[in-house]
Amino acid sequence: MKLFEFKATKHATAPAPIGAPVGSSVMEDAIDHPGPVVVKSIGTEWTAKLSGLLNLKHPKAVAAGLEDGPEPIQIYTHVVRHPTEGFFLVDTGVSAEFVEHPAEVGVGKMLRKYGGISDMHPEPSTAEVIKAEGAPLAGVFMTHLHLDHVSGFPDIPKDTPVYTGYHEAEAGLFLNMFAQGTNNHLLEGRPPLQELQFNGDPDGKFAGVNDVFGDGTFFAILTPGHTEGHTSYVARTAEGPVLLTGDVCHTRWGWDNDVEPGSFLADRDGSRESLLALKALSERHPNMSVRLGHQP
Ligand SMILES: [Zn+2]
Repeated sequence: MKLFEFKATKHATAPAPIGAPVGSSVMEDAIDHPGPVVVKSIGTEWTAKLSGLLNLKHPKAVAAGLEDGPEPIQIYTHVVRHPTEGFFLVDTGVSAEFVEHPAEVGVGKMLRKYGGISDMHPEPSTAEVIKAEGAPLAGVFMTHLHLDHVSGFPDIPKDTPVYTGYHEAEAGLFLNMFAQGTNNHLLEGRPPLQELQFNGDPDGKFAGVNDVFGDGTFFAILTPGHTEGHTSYVARTAEGPVLLTGDVCHTRWGWDNDVEPGSFLADRDGSRESLLALKALSERHPNMSVRLGHQP
């Protein structure tokens, strides 16, 4: 870590007691068989700068004449229901408390000023999403620890296990100077972040794959670039595999044209590589439903 880099949070981490690293072929052999997981994606309205969401300097974006400006997007939480493991969220959505009283829940001054929080609309709020499930929340799987993904934490019970990708919390980045204090506050009083374990990919397609419940129904894919420990997820549902890309790709245009995010990323080459790897995965499994980071 360099001198002017800051971790995403100082919150403690521990290896997740669930999940096992597997080769991507184990996942790819399984996912076209219908599975028992149910995924519901719930978005709330937000706006962000297109130049952050999409690399506007990419030749394809230049050729298409795309210009910077406010872009309507969604902040998602994905409800993942497993028949025996229970009900989980992937990313946290938006809590009303977070939008109405950001200082009280621990959002730092810089993010309150420049983070676009007053443009977030918690409709439905994360509390409402959890209540509608009528069951206790068994855990939260994070794609990464950016503000628009942790914004539901005030509504998440303090004892809920939180899972992240490998090294997501510790990765250094200058931008984290503004995010770290906020993440520390939102995670205060919670158990250590549980890091899913990855062990490369003997099949050479991804940075790593993890069979989260050990039954081949729900997989985590390490997709670094946007952040160092960024993680995407694949669920086996009755209708076919559902891919939750996270911020490997924010926009519909970016996915359709293979263009990685703009300024909102840690490592451009890594981010593009992860995007192309997920795109290829979806092409090998045409039945796959793809849910992007911030647009339908
Ligand atoms: Zn995001």
